[in-house]
Amino acid sequence: MTTAIYPGSFDPPTFGHLDIIKRAAAIFDRVVVCVMKNGGKENGLFSVKERVCLLEELTCNYQNVEIDEYEGLLAEYVKFFQKPVVVRGLRAITDFEYEFQMATVNKKLNSNVETMFLVASNEYTFLSSSVVRELGKYGTRMSCFVPQIVEDAIREKFPNSIPPLHLVASE
Ligand code: ADP
Repeated sequence: MTTAIYPGSFDPPTFGHLDIIKRAAAIFDRVVVCVMKNGGKENGLFSVKERVCLLEELTCNYQNVEIDEYEGLLAEYVKFFQKPVVVRGLRAITDFEYEFQMATVNKKLNSNVETMFLVASNEYTFLSSSVVRELGKYGTRMSCFVPQIVEDAIREKFPNSIPPLHLVASE
């Protein structure tokens, strides 16, 4: 059985991530979404546990999707699976250089790691967790970017955020 491993920070999960999960779930027998705890991005908005909980709730209707977390190298994590394929999303040419580098490094570290890219859907090419985190600071409505439970969780992180007047007026 081929297992798709979809690793990432997911801080927080967005509609872009969910689109990749849905599409991977339609292709692969099993999809494991893994929240990676990496040195460079340790101090996220959400803890790894919170991200896992959000992802579990968001994917509870997919029978073949599981959520996991891992601290360490992806090249090591994939060893837990028999036929792993790493799935990543590509939004733009700006993603490509980093993704190409990571896929090549992972292949060098573990020759069994194959990486497959799913091109972001048109409506989500602009969307990233960092944009969502930034908007969260200002209390902006985010229903186009993240599911309601994620929006609510962001609001709890920024209880004192006040939306700019012109945004309140246009809502
Ligand atoms: P990382 O820190 O590993 O890049 P992210 O959570 O930012 O973690 O992204 C995880 C994966 O999801 C990456 O492959 C990224 O390119 C992809 N991704 C992020 N946002 C989108 C989106 N809007 N559409 C498609 N893929 C996306």
